[in-house]
Amino acid sequence: MNIKTGSSLTDRTSTKKIFNMRKILTFAAGLIMMTGCAQKSQKAITQSEPTTITWIEDKPGPTLQPQKLYPEVPDSLWAALGLEKGVPSSMSCLLLQTEGKTILLDAGLGAPFSQLLPKLKEKGVAPEELKLIYITHLHPDHIGGLLKEGKVVFPNAEVYVNRVEAEAWLAMEGDRSKLAKSILDAYKTHLHLFEAGDTLEGGVKSIAAYGHTPGHTVFQKDSILVIADLIHGAALQLEHPEYCPTYDMDKEAARESRLRILKYARENNLTMYGMHLPNPGYIK
Ligand SMILES: [Zn+2]
Repeated sequence: MNIKTGSSLTDRTSTKKIFNMRKILTFAAGLIMMTGCAQKSQKAITQSEPTTITWIEDKPGPTLQPQKLYPEVPDSLWAALGLEKGVPSSMSCLLLQTEGKTILLDAGLGAPFSQLLPKLKEKGVAPEELKLIYITHLHPDHIGGLLKEGKVVFPNAEVYVNRVEAEAWLAMEGDRSKLAKSILDAYKTHLHLFEAGDTLEGGVKSIAAYGHTPGHTVFQKDSILVIADLIHGAALQLEHPEYCPTYDMDKEAARESRLRILKYARENNLTMYGMHLPNPGYIK
């Protein structure tokens, strides 16, 4: 398949180029301010729009995850937590607006019930206007919405995927990797493979949270931490992060990531936004 899997160096270079360009622009802006001859520019430079994040519930209505998703949890714990009927959940995406950029984080399942496009429309974002999509991992409920009947839904979007994640799914055999492969292929001219730790456009930092999938990634912008599927069933896993859903592909790594990132979030007072957190989609 003709994917730019080896292109991370180029991508890093181009990311650097963007930042170098920004430095140049900032320097140029500084010069304009010093000359004092451009009041309008000065205003535009010193006033930055606040960062906002919007929870987009892709699958409408409350959802309960079945207990069988967590086969190691004893009945006594389910009862103690009052979760006999299942774990409150959702299937969601997030829209981050920062530094003048509109960034979609994951794209939902793309099922007939999908609320992604109507909700984007409500926010005034048409599919062809969306320029940036950051993907946390390549499970179907996070990327299905990128294609509709085999065609790209966001023709002008640059799609960012962790290189480790993309390479792992491209190397995977069988039906389970089919959707990931077809999406990476459909967006190949707009695909950017980043390294964990890279800061993407909009000042969004990527952080490795491997285990749920081989290259599962969380994103941080200031006090916002997008945890993706690090926490799958909040009512269970916030108190008992040791329990993994069957979806965690490498349970030991997933557990380590969960403990490490929960600690990081708590120590830094971050608000966690997750793709399966129940309404309102975040945990303070
Ligand atoms: Zn998921």
